[in-house]
Amino acid sequence: MRDTLGREITYLRISLTDLCNLRCTYCMPPEGAKKLEHRDILSFEEIEEIARAAVSLGVRKIRLTGGEPLVRRGMVDLCRRLRAIPELRELALTTNGLLLPEMAADLKAAGVDRVNISLDTLDPDKYRRITRGGSLDRALAGIQAAKDAGLTPLKLNCVLIGGFNDDEIADLAALTVDEPVEVRFIELMPIGDAEGFGPEAYLPCEAVLERLPRLVPVGDNGGVAERYRLPGAAGTVGLIRPLSRCFCSRCDRLRLTADGQLKPCLHSGEEIPVRGLHGADLLRQLERAIRHKPARHGELSSSSRSQATRDMNQIGG
Ligand code: SAM
Ligand code: SF4
Repeated sequence: MRDTLGREITYLRISLTDLCNLRCTYCMPPEGAKKLEHRDILSFEEIEEIARAAVSLGVRKIRLTGGEPLVRRGMVDLCRRLRAIPELRELALTTNGLLLPEMAADLKAAGVDRVNISLDTLDPDKYRRITRGGSLDRALAGIQAAKDAGLTPLKLNCVLIGGFNDDEIADLAALTVDEPVEVRFIELMPIGDAEGFGPEAYLPCEAVLERLPRLVPVGDNGGVAERYRLPGAAGTVGLIRPLSRCFCSRCDRLRLTADGQLKPCLHSGEEIPVRGLHGADLLRQLERAIRHKPARHGELSSSSRSQATRDMNQIGG
């Protein structure tokens, strides 16, 4: 289904939980997410029903996210149920990867096609600091497990933070030289708990091109990342620039929160409830969310905050 601006909406991001086994400083408060009662989050039956309705309106790709999607008990089962939707072309996950050593093979067997894994630094101390206690070794083991299980092509998401990891741009991009992975630098967004960052942290992705002048543009694959390649590299470097180069005109997605709200736009406060709706009523709300997609998000910068009313872990990134 197309929205009022002609954008075809083919992508649904579903947040399975607000909870996470990390507490990244740009994403959630130090005390972690407030635990919702089980009855306050969508059941797998409800998620499947909403997903099926979205697919009937033209959604072809579903990504499970959170919070950390792998901490929701039984989620492999949900993957299997979603994969059984005949018209669905791709089922993917965004994860911090910590639980992939135990879960990657089961996820693949359940029909998950690929995963994006967050990796902001290659330095164990910095990883511990930015995630408030996480182990880089665990994250790297998760990346290896995803490769071994064939959850590929693999994308590694790196939030670019001035004064934190801009000195690692070359090392992170070098991960693409020998392996067909995409390392994606994402501009830090002023949303939810990213409040504590000063203006210097909001580094535009242009910094990546300045540090790596040998990057050559490669064709667009329809996603939100601009793609480049180091000479002779097996993989690619992606730039995602919500602040310095808004990609709203190419936005093809809807978001569903763990408590059953559709969000037409990540950076808008508008939420459309779908919990408890079935059949024609559910379809009507999905169509409403698509019609309500704004042309673009409001100004985002170190001094203009997102109008989203939730932290990133409560929306699904
Ligand atoms: N826990 C999973 C993970 O970390 O990959 C999935 C959820 S997380 C909210 C999804 C993505 O949002 C991650 O890649 C994370 O780095 C990104 N993210 C969170 N807060 C952000 C912010 N303030 N600016 C930019 N990206 C952010
Ligand atoms: Fe957890 Fe992902 Fe947020 Fe980090 S970015 S706190 S891993 S939800």
